[in-house]
Amino acid sequence: MTRPLRIAYGRIFHEANAYSPVLTTSADFERMHWIGGAELDRASTLGGTELKSFMPHAELTGFRQACRLAGGVTAVPLESSLAVPSGPLTRESFEEILARLLDRLEAAMPVDGVYLALHGSMQVAGLAEAPEAMILRRVRAILGDAAKLAVSYDLHANLSAGLVDPVDVLVAYRTNPHWDLAPTGFRAGRRLVRALRGEIAPVHAWRKLPMVLGGGTTIDFLSPMRGFFRSMRRLERRPGAVSASLFMVHPYTSAEKLGWATHVSTDGDRALAERLADELAERAWALKDVPPPDMRTPSEAIREVRSSAWRRLGPVTFVDVDDVVGAGAPGGNTHVLAALAAEAPDLVAFVPLHDPAAVDATWAAPLGARRRLVLTGTPGYGMPGVTVEATVSARATTDFGRAVRLDVGKLRVVVTDRSPLPIHPSFWSALGLAARDADVIVQKNFFHYRLFYATTSFRHLPVVSDGATSLVRVKERARAAFGERPAWAAGAPSTP
Ligand SMILES: [Zn+2]
Repeated sequence: MTRPLRIAYGRIFHEANAYSPVLTTSADFERMHWIGGAELDRASTLGGTELKSFMPHAELTGFRQACRLAGGVTAVPLESSLAVPSGPLTRESFEEILARLLDRLEAAMPVDGVYLALHGSMQVAGLAEAPEAMILRRVRAILGDAAKLAVSYDLHANLSAGLVDPVDVLVAYRTNPHWDLAPTGFRAGRRLVRALRGEIAPVHAWRKLPMVLGGGTTIDFLSPMRGFFRSMRRLERRPGAVSASLFMVHPYTSAEKLGWATHVSTDGDRALAERLADELAERAWALKDVPPPDMRTPSEAIREVRSSAWRRLGPVTFVDVDDVVGAGAPGGNTHVLAALAAEAPDLVAFVPLHDPAAVDATWAAPLGARRRLVLTGTPGYGMPGVTVEATVSARATTDFGRAVRLDVGKLRVVVTDRSPLPIHPSFWSALGLAARDADVIVQKNFFHYRLFYATTSFRHLPVVSDGATSLVRVKERARAAFGERPAWAAGAPSTP
């Protein structure tokens, strides 16, 4: 039996939306998740709650289980921090979060290895390189070359050399929406322990692809991704293979070379890794022309509701695909609201809107008061103002800060202090509204909401609105980064 291993673990996790005007700060992490030391140690056990109000067992609990089952491992907690997707992190907050993790690591030394749960699509205002690359470089500087470093990424990571080169073990989620956080941490932990014990010697190969899909075509259990993930698992079971991962990238960043990537690691066989990475990349590349779902303009969607039999069965959902809060948009896009106000006085429409100025202007008003307002949405978002004569009808303090319901004819606008996510119908009932009564409900989310509206809304229309999660903007940027005829498209795949 070898001597016990000492492995430190932690997390810095954020998905940035470069098109959002709302910068992320330490306070957003504090509100959501930021723990360390003994508290993290407790939270990442099977009896603990790792990510409160989000997921009881995530990567670090999975990692701890791998250590426990391997035996002979002392797991040393560092820091774990996570904020919901939003605009880039301020430089000051990033330095603070990183410094706290590095301080813990210095104090934990010497260690044989480190495991970090990272996202891979962070952005920091004023920092040109990927923040994860800086995290890994600074961690490596403390560790030295002898210790091993394992990292798990979100499958929306934008892979680059700085995210791969300093790492010995690299794995990623395989579900979208993501539910396999704990299994991912488990795989990272198991491979790290095996590598530290000399049972495997992982070598990597990866490929970058100038492609971006979106608009709901990347759900892992639906076509076309279902077949891909299945074949990836088969590939991973081949003799000599250690892991295979696909990165579908978070498209709403200003990072350089935005695009999908495949990554394969094998047990010491570089040629095999190169071959399998190519094979996986070919398979991913074959999906590049999968069309996004048929998008509507707000006016087209309104016309479709009027002529649709679905409306009689329940509200039709407008998925505001260009203002998806779960993908970091601020939720204060007024384009859909403007169309409903101007063109649909006959429809009962529920609209969430991030508009702190409107909240300020109406929070103290008596219920029933009439107010003339110009709704402009998120400050700095550049949205057109929508002038309304509104009745202040209800108010509540919610998960999204203060919320005020404004009635404009049949229109029901709920303005909030922070980015609204009406994933659950309780968003509306908190303000005296029943989801069932609406003809139209506007959602700021691609998929999760469907679980809670499964018996309420049966028709879902993707609506474009030129906001922070616009795929049109992304495609223009990707074209600019890779050029019109990228090397890969010309049939010459190469190591990035
Ligand atoms: Zn993701």
